[in-house]
Amino acid sequence: ASSFNAVPLAPTDPLFGLMAAYKADTFDKKVDLGVGAYRDDNAKPWVLPVVKKVTSVQTISGTGAVHLGALFLAKFFSRPQDQKVYLSDPTWVNHTQIFSNVGLTSTTYPYYHPPTKGLDFDGFYGTLESAPEGSIILLHACAHNPTGVDPTREQWMKLAEIIRAKKHFPFFDCAYQGFASGDLDNDAWAIHYFVQEGFELCIAQSFAKNLGLYGERAGCFHFVSPPSSNAKEITKRIASQLAILQRSEISNPPAYGARIAGLVLNDKKLFAEWCENLREMSGRIKAMRTALHAKLVELETPGDWSHILKQIGMFS
Ligand code: PLP
Repeated sequence: ASSFNAVPLAPTDPLFGLMAAYKADTFDKKVDLGVGAYRDDNAKPWVLPVVKKVTSVQTISGTGAVHLGALFLAKFFSRPQDQKVYLSDPTWVNHTQIFSNVGLTSTTYPYYHPPTKGLDFDGFYGTLESAPEGSIILLHACAHNPTGVDPTREQWMKLAEIIRAKKHFPFFDCAYQGFASGDLDNDAWAIHYFVQEGFELCIAQSFAKNLGLYGERAGCFHFVSPPSSNAKEITKRIASQLAILQRSEISNPPAYGARIAGLVLNDKKLFAEWCENLREMSGRIKAMRTALHAKLVELETPGDWSHILKQIGMFS
């Protein structure tokens, strides 16, 4: 016999019952005053203008998101001159082959500065300045792979200026959000800034590292259109093309990891716990950096090792 024989049948939720009765009612002047969701003058749910700017597609982790973005740009982003994708020197090795696989030529912008083991900002900026107008610029959102060197906020602002002046297209690769500083907003600062500044851009987002879902392949590709009266129409058309590209290549992305990510992102308590987990992971990475640096100094290892502390994330 079941241990739960005494479990009574719960009454139906009164509000849900009312909703069902409302739906079933055929009276043409019926009014729904039950559900606490905002409606517009036509009693339709209101899709906020800010939401209309974003169209997102679930992808096969960050790699799939970069690939989908590359494929989309290869097909639809055209400028009069020969189009090139600018990648940081150095970058994640896969970037070059992902773009060449879809027929886009890539070149590099200076990034790492060996003498300081920091950012070659002048070289970076100068190359964006001399690049042909309308180039695609791939940017690591945070915790740059493989250098661990990120621009400062002031430097991001200057980069945004030149990208706007040259009508370049920013493509953010966001594979380590939360891994750099332990704070999701902090690590997405550059993306938020570009969006606030009204850029049209795209983002490849991975949940592999920050949710520890390496094998589940949970990721997202986001396209953000600039604020304009036809943003809704543009994103609708773009979403329809992205859907065809995904359909032709993978039909559907895997569900399991994405469901876990969705659960964590949509539940207040789980989300707070995730933020705590991120602080723990990034905190441990920082502690490892401090310990490694201290040991190198203690052993009087020749050279300056301060870059180990200045760089961020898992790479150095
Ligand atoms: N982008 C960068 C910069 C990366 O370092 C990685 C993984 O190492 C990815 C994207 C793709 O990650 P994944 O496909 O595992 O989500």
